Amino acid sequence: MVKVPEIFGSKVFNDDVMKDRLPKPAYKALKSTIENGETLDSNIANAVAHAMKEWAIEMGCTHYTHWFQPLTGVTAEKHDSFITPDGDGKVIMTFGGKELIKGEPDASSFPSGGIRATFEARGYTAWDPTSPAFAKDGTLYIPTAFASYTGEVLDKKTPLLRSMERISNEAIRILKLFGKDDVKRVITNVGPEQEYFLIDKEMYDARPDLIYTGRTLFGAKAPKGQELDDHYFGSIKTRVKQFMAELDKELWSYGILAKTKHNEVAPSQHEIAPVFTTTNIAVDQNELMMEILKKTAEKLDLVCLLHEKPFAGVNGSGKHNNWSLVTSDGENLLKPGKKPEENIQFLLFLAAIIKGVDEYQDLLRLSVASAGNDHRLGANEAPPAIMSVFLGDQLDAVVHSLEFGEDYESEKLENMELGVEVLPTLRMDTTDRNRTSPFAFTGNRFEFRSLGSSENVAGPNIMLNTIVAQELKEFADHLETVKDKKRAIKRLIVSTFKKHDRIIFNGDNYSKEWEAEAERRGLLNLKCVPQALKYVINEKNITLFTENNVLTREELKARYDVELENYSKIINIEALTMIDMAKKDIIPAVTEYIKTLTDTALAKQELSTDIPIVLEKKIITDLSQNLVCFGDKVIELENDLEKAGELSEDIQAYADFYHDVVLADMEALRAIGDKMESQTGSEYWPYPSYGEMLFGV
Ligand code: ADP
Ligand code: MG
Repeated sequence: MVKVPEIFGSKVFNDDVMKDRLPKPAYKALKSTIENGETLDSNIANAVAHAMKEWAIEMGCTHYTHWFQPLTGVTAEKHDSFITPDGDGKVIMTFGGKELIKGEPDASSFPSGGIRATFEARGYTAWDPTSPAFAKDGTLYIPTAFASYTGEVLDKKTPLLRSMERISNEAIRILKLFGKDDVKRVITNVGPEQEYFLIDKEMYDARPDLIYTGRTLFGAKAPKGQELDDHYFGSIKTRVKQFMAELDKELWSYGILAKTKHNEVAPSQHEIAPVFTTTNIAVDQNELMMEILKKTAEKLDLVCLLHEKPFAGVNGSGKHNNWSLVTSDGENLLKPGKKPEENIQFLLFLAAIIKGVDEYQDLLRLSVASAGNDHRLGANEAPPAIMSVFLGDQLDAVVHSLEFGEDYESEKLENMELGVEVLPTLRMDTTDRNRTSPFAFTGNRFEFRSLGSSENVAGPNIMLNTIVAQELKEFADHLETVKDKKRAIKRLIVSTFKKHDRIIFNGDNYSKEWEAEAERRGLLNLKCVPQALKYVINEKNITLFTENNVLTREELKARYDVELENYSKIINIEALTMIDMAKKDIIPAVTEYIKTLTDTALAKQELSTDIPIVLEKKIITDLSQNLVCFGDKVIELENDLEKAGELSEDIQAYADFYHDVVLADMEALRAIGDKMESQTGSEYWPYPSYGEMLFGV
């Protein structure tokens, strides 16, 4: 039996452990650093380091690592052992405050977007005391931020922490206007829902495309996909259940509040959601969760696919970022209460968010842009590339009445009768469940639904926090100077709703009509990475980040360079993998099958010319024609890759070319490949089929 309270957090240097092991003054100082963001004195750091080391050794650790999140999109770690020679040929285990606070990994191979020349490639990591350290596989993991030696930010955590501080400070200014002078901090909470696929390891190993790129580049549709909707929330298969149980246990031991799990829409697709927590911790835990998903799958001879679109023709995977603002006193600032129309403070925060999403649509959009996510957004399985806000009927009516100066009639919330005695009467959910909206109000939080499944959630949260901080700042700057605050606040709310109501959309975001309507409203529709990323470095956005001290102009430019280059690299790898598969496996396999058919037909003829060979002839003819066409497409793709290479000096043109030309070539090649798969005997086809992969667990 699993004793959850006992295993929960057992591998984490958490509050209980600290209280237990730290001298009282050290514990108090550390707590105050964590809660109020105060700096930690070096004596205290030594005490914490000592306690951490003792604890880690008891947990079986021999090493420690500064764990950080460079711009590669995956976490990085370099392990150092605790040993120090004692001078007598023996060793002692040491770990001091200095080593806890600062590390100096050789950073020359991490992407910096040209910020650093190689001769000054040193970087350093700095401890983030607000995210707890943990023991994993014999190493003490210390969450850290990563910067260059001259101070330029090279990671995702630093701007995230800065943005959290910015939004806190501005929200506090707003709360003061409502007489709430005692609020020390305003915290952003995040609950990321994580989708993933689980397939058999043997099938994975037989697919070079999955191994090199995380997604299938060829694959004819199986006779059955997700059309019957029988997988969503369906009963969970034994092997998957075993995986989920193992996963929960692992996650709990790292203090991750794994809560909900269920089957998703596509066959073999599942979801896990933890209980929400402070943003930087939620980000760290989601990174750890993705790693644990993969490792747990391996233990059971399964592979967990986190790619946004591993299989064409069925849904891909995303991540919903549930986001809210709560004060250090526990007040959720996004809770409308029973009468939202009278809750002026809530309406002011709501107005700031609506204004922010409208003014910085581009930033929110580009924060979820990735080569993988390009396959999902706008493909009728995920929100479109157009940003909009969903409010739900009740809140929409409130906003509408304010805009037009009409009285708001508190809706008589009807009870929904399920018609079955034993079931309780449910209150109609006033925030509805519009699953198609990219940014939906869901009762006491906003749910940003456009994220890709493999993405580090730091990016979108940096945007959200900074944008809303900026809007709150503009509000506070104005409101602090006026006399009649109450009246000014109301006027500001009304004028903001009026000005930005184009961003509110409660209808079906998947519909063609919305695309046309959004265009009429002047909303952006940035369809792919190269189109979206350009907006990072426009002046409006540079001003936003520099004025809020979240990122500098150079750092933004670096991010743009790194991500755009990364995009081109990903597609290049995909294209090379396709060429390889085509030449080494697919063309030989089809040729072999044609040969067998030809041999059979000839043998039949030899026996008697009366035996019909029309079927063989037809298949041989079709396949031979397709094979020629397939070969031509391979050559086209190769030629275009060569052309791409010539553009590599101009990263924007380079990425545009990969999107406009190379991806199109790949699609054309795949189409013929998939056609040939459906015409070729399954024993001849070199790879496991979609049916085998999707229904094979
Ligand atoms: P659904 O799929 O219906 O959206 P889930 O239960 O799968 O709901 O996930 C909801 C997520 O939202 C969970 O991670 C949950 O902890 C998180 N959440 C709930 N309340 C808040 C809040 N106030 N702030 C941030 N996240 C929240
Ligand atoms: Mg959700």
